[in-house]
Amino acid sequence: MQGPSPVETGEDPLAPYRGRILYGLASAAAVCLLPFSVNAFVQGNPGLGAGILAAFLVLAIDAFAIYLKKSPPIPLILLLVPIAVGTAVSLKVQGFFGALWAYPTVLLFTFGLSRRMAYVGSILLLLIISALVYHYIGFAYTIRFFVTLTLTIVLANIVLSIIVDLHRRLLDQALVDPLTGVFNRRYMERCLSDAIERLRRNSAPTSLLLIDVDRFKSINDQYGHATGDSVLRGIVSLIQKRSRKLDLLFRIGGEEFMLLLPGTREAAAALVAEDLRASTAESRLLEDWQVTLSIGVAELRPGESPDSWMKHADDALYGAKKAGRNRVVCAGLSLPQPEPVPRDAKPETRSGAERA
Ligand code: GH3
Ligand code: MG
Ligand code: MG
Repeated sequence: MQGPSPVETGEDPLAPYRGRILYGLASAAAVCLLPFSVNAFVQGNPGLGAGILAAFLVLAIDAFAIYLKKSPPIPLILLLVPIAVGTAVSLKVQGFFGALWAYPTVLLFTFGLSRRMAYVGSILLLLIISALVYHYIGFAYTIRFFVTLTLTIVLANIVLSIIVDLHRRLLDQALVDPLTGVFNRRYMERCLSDAIERLRRNSAPTSLLLIDVDRFKSINDQYGHATGDSVLRGIVSLIQKRSRKLDLLFRIGGEEFMLLLPGTREAAAALVAEDLRASTAESRLLEDWQVTLSIGVAELRPGESPDSWMKHADDALYGAKKAGRNRVVCAGLSLPQPEPVPRDAKPETRSGAERA
């Protein structure tokens, strides 16, 4: 598969849910942590009270930012400070119970921070609280605490890996065409909108090629559906070999593809299209049938909608079909083209000499 995709890059699957996680936690913290903090102050434990209050404030400020639809201003990893202070005071005053806060904190880090930060936070927490338990309680408790918290970290990460894997498979099913392995129409719509945004923000051009296999129905009729499928896969492989890594290929219909070329003006896109057309026509995808492509090329124009952009490319493709197929037509400029073939001509077959 080509181009940067959410499937390949393993986009953070929890990112859209972080708000929900933080918001729920902050609400729970308001109910649980605040009374704890007040109780600690009343019991004459200002250190513990302040530690718990600080943890509550970190969650509350982040949750309020999320409520205002802004990104959380305080990194959750800062919770290490109040947790460590609170645990130290609690261990000194109440014994081992103070260390128990480490368990929900590990879960908060695993599901509330990015993967790397969660690892760093969890390991730091494990080391700091283990050292505190060793200092205030003793070796036997330290061993038990270290082993159980390590197991909790491992388990939480296994659950997270399963979520990441399920997310990847879900994206794969939702965005990738099972026959050819390229993106489908649903992902195309997202990418067209991204291209429009890039043009609006950075004046970055994008062109698209609308590619249709010529007389594909006749290929199916003559060779069967299975051979038709392998021709489609062959065309995809040919296009992928001849395009850049950042270009995005979509199957948008039965035998219709779209190649999105970021950072490419129409004139350069027309050369890419011509290269694809020529190399497909020269390929040996079928022994005695010349598989050909008709291609419409259109560059995104300022202020244009995805529909209008596609319409320009579609009109150009229609022009290519009308002019006899096996050709490239641009929405904005014209290219020298091969001789037109009559519309009702029989599909081109290779001559014996050509085949040899
Ligand atoms: P034109 O040159 O005008 O594009 O003619 P065409 O025959 O390629 O176009 P038409 O739209 O008439 O036929 C498309 C054919 O593609 C019809 C359909 O059976 C076939 N098709 C659609 N999806 C698949 C698929 O997944 N596999 C195969 N083998 N064939 C498919
Ligand atoms: Mg066709
Ligand atoms: Mg078609």
